[in-house]
Amino acid sequence: MKKTGKLQTVYVCYHQSSLSSVARYQPLQPEYVLAPYLSAVKGFKSRKLISRFRCGCHGLHVDTGRLLPLAQQVPREQRHCVFCTSGSAEDEHHFVFDCPAYCAIRNRFTNILWGPASTLSSFCTLYDPKVIARFLRECFEHRNTLMAAQTGHNL
Ligand SMILES: [Zn+2]
Repeated sequence: MKKTGKLQTVYVCYHQSSLSSVARYQPLQPEYVLAPYLSAVKGFKSRKLISRFRCGCHGLHVDTGRLLPLAQQVPREQRHCVFCTSGSAEDEHHFVFDCPAYCAIRNRFTNILWGPASTLSSFCTLYDPKVIARFLRECFEHRNTLMAAQTGHNL
């Protein structure tokens, strides 16, 4: 067996495993195929933004909270959003669909958010990836502004 074939087999097994990080990613990419956004989105920064979001490496509190030293870590569901008073974890679903801090942006993207896209899986797979990238970029830029206002530091 060629090295790439063996690596592919290992990856496919990993992809089908039930590890928590894989379990969160798998609905976004159920099959071992090239994700359509990788060829549809030409800009490197936009592809990187979508990739990081899909993999959970985006800087939301559910992500940054797992990088803290063990003694400071709290469970994922307790890594609350600091930009609203909902008490929700700042996870991908809250960021895209629920957090009131991004209402104005969401209102400009109603075609991708108020249709059949009520799950992260549908959000990431049903619509033009270039529009998804634009939405995510605007939300993360706004988040950086909100964070800078809270901390007094520019990000
Ligand atoms: Zn929020």
